[in-house]
Amino acid sequence: MHQRRRIVLLFGLGIVLPSLLLSYLAFRGIQNDRALVEKDRLEGIRRAADNVALAVDAGIAAVEQALSDAVAGRSGSLAADLRPALEKLVAENPLIEQLFEVRPSQELRFPIANFLYVGDGAREADNSPIAGTNQPAEFLAAQMLEFRDNDLTGALAAYRRLQGRTRDTRLSAMILNAVARVQKKSGLAHEAASTYEMILRDHGPAVIPGGMPLGPSAALEICGLTRELGDFPRSLRTALSLYHSLVRREWDVEKAEFELFAGRVKDHIKALFSDPPSGIDLQAFRTEFDALAVEEDISRKRTERMIVFQEGAVPALEAKTRVADREAPGQPFVRSTLEIGDVSYLVTIERPSPAGLDPMDGVWGVILDAGRLQADVLRPALLDLFASGEATWAVIGKDNAVLMSSGDPFAGPAALRTDFASNFPGWTLEFHQTPPRLIKTFLLSRRGLYFFIFLLIAGILVFGLILTIRSVSHELELARMKSDFVSTVSHEFRSPLTSIRQLAEMLQSGRVPSEERRQRYYDVLLEQSERLALLTDNILGLAKIEAGRAAFAFDRIDISALLSEVVTAIQDRVRHEGFAIGLEAEAALPPLAADLTAMAQALTNLIDNAVKYSGDSRKVSVRAFLDGEDIAIAVRDFGIGIKKEDVPRLFERFFRGGDELTRTVKGSGLGLTLVKEIVEAHQGKIHVESEPGKGSVFTIRLPLPPREEP
Ligand code: ADP
Repeated sequence: MHQRRRIVLLFGLGIVLPSLLLSYLAFRGIQNDRALVEKDRLEGIRRAADNVALAVDAGIAAVEQALSDAVAGRSGSLAADLRPALEKLVAENPLIEQLFEVRPSQELRFPIANFLYVGDGAREADNSPIAGTNQPAEFLAAQMLEFRDNDLTGALAAYRRLQGRTRDTRLSAMILNAVARVQKKSGLAHEAASTYEMILRDHGPAVIPGGMPLGPSAALEICGLTRELGDFPRSLRTALSLYHSLVRREWDVEKAEFELFAGRVKDHIKALFSDPPSGIDLQAFRTEFDALAVEEDISRKRTERMIVFQEGAVPALEAKTRVADREAPGQPFVRSTLEIGDVSYLVTIERPSPAGLDPMDGVWGVILDAGRLQADVLRPALLDLFASGEATWAVIGKDNAVLMSSGDPFAGPAALRTDFASNFPGWTLEFHQTPPRLIKTFLLSRRGLYFFIFLLIAGILVFGLILTIRSVSHELELARMKSDFVSTVSHEFRSPLTSIRQLAEMLQSGRVPSEERRQRYYDVLLEQSERLALLTDNILGLAKIEAGRAAFAFDRIDISALLSEVVTAIQDRVRHEGFAIGLEAEAALPPLAADLTAMAQALTNLIDNAVKYSGDSRKVSVRAFLDGEDIAIAVRDFGIGIKKEDVPRLFERFFRGGDELTRTVKGSGLGLTLVKEIVEAHQGKIHVESEPGKGSVFTIRLPLPPREEP
């Protein structure tokens, strides 16, 4: 046993240790490889991030270029001929939220903005005097009649006279307005409404000196008058159309004016909705009204945003331009994120030419639409470059707000954060490496290959270990059995030889007293020498079979005759011990094709074993009978039997059953091995049934030769 342990130990030292070392190296290799792959991936992400930044930069640069082209060669930027080019520019560049110009006077204006209103006081007031100085005097006189004297008829006549003579459209608008007012006061609702219609049609945008445009107030008057007259549809249509005009910025109004007109017209419409005459379907009107309200809301937000910009951007832009002059001189545009109040703007503005500003020219700039920049430029670039799903990304804005993300939840900490060039737009791109998909990357990578090779080596080693242990144990067991064999066999030879020699000496010296005693000695001599012969035959037979030199000569033999010969021989040998070996052979058993000597030896071994292991029993029975196509020979004893666990090993070389220490019967462990070899050489089978203490039956079955057809 300890030999085995030594071999396993050697195996461990010689193979397991080196392979452990090998595995360690492989593991380190895998780790290095992994780090390398991670680095590669990070590098890839960095490159892609740079490309994203480039794409955004290119998008902005394109807008700047288009702006430069549109305003190139301008002379006096207020020139109306610039307008179509600017409109086209805005229409073609969705990234532009608003276009603006900073005049040399530091005033900021939006040349093509369609705002809901302008800031209070921002409208360019038209206070030019009305042409012809005498007419206003007459106009004043008429007003005197109207307001001071309360002479409505006189006032109306005076206004009408004046109207017939005037050539000045602005004055005539004011006169019409006065006429309508007096008509309304005089209870001439129909007439007043018609006059207001006329104002609305012909003089809508006209602004009374220092005041507001006439159109909206005229429309409001019409609404009121028609409602009084009971013309519900006309009132509603006029109101809706006024609201429409206000929302669509057809009037040039200031904020307070807008609020006034819009508030009143909405109240009017709501009042009409709440009290409609029967038979009028309001659904279409309501839908229109709601749509306009939504539009107003959107426009209002945009307008407010631009008014804030208009009021606060100039100083901020100047500061940024100064910084840019220092930090990045030579760029044609200055890009910056402006924060005015809590509103932020992405602005890019022309840099004034250093040669000195032409006093006629302003500087042009663009407020970029951050939403569109994200949706139209940034997102496609990100999606395009990170399509493989190697990384999840997010665009982080002010206060760490996530503006946009790839949508996947982040796995692990940020792998990479980058800003845009010169921090414009002021967003941060954040990338998170997604953990590699195990199966995919692993199977395809070099790591996977290492791993499989490693597994293979480990498998081979384990297999080798098992194989080695098994064959070593087997060899050791065989060696042990062989040494057992040598000691038993030499003993086996020695004891019969000793007794043969003693008996022979006694017989020779003539010192044997009686004839009967002499006869006994002869019997013993015979028995011992036969035992020696059997042993020798077994050893030689097996040696021959093992060496592959056994040549069997198959003859037709009569098995009953052979049996009775063998039984008689053994019976003769053991009669003096009181054994009775019964033979029972079926009459007329067919002849068998067999090697006579070998078969005799096999049968002798079986019967000899039965005698040897009979214990106290003195009875052995041998039976030969036909069993189907076979001849069966059963040797039965009533002796010590065989332990169950020994049965499968009985036919192994050198195997000896029972307990090694208490074994009394001598033997070599070769007999049954030889029997089995012989039986199998005859295409036969051997079978054992045994019960310890009760005896055993060994049955061999030998196939009959195919019957010869006569
Ligand atoms: P041996 O020389 O020991 O008899 P064998 O090969 O003939 O060698 O038998 C192997 C073992 O089988 C024996 O040691 C014995 O334990 C067992 N054996 C064989 N025949 C019998 C039997 N008839 N009864 C009990 N045990 C038997």
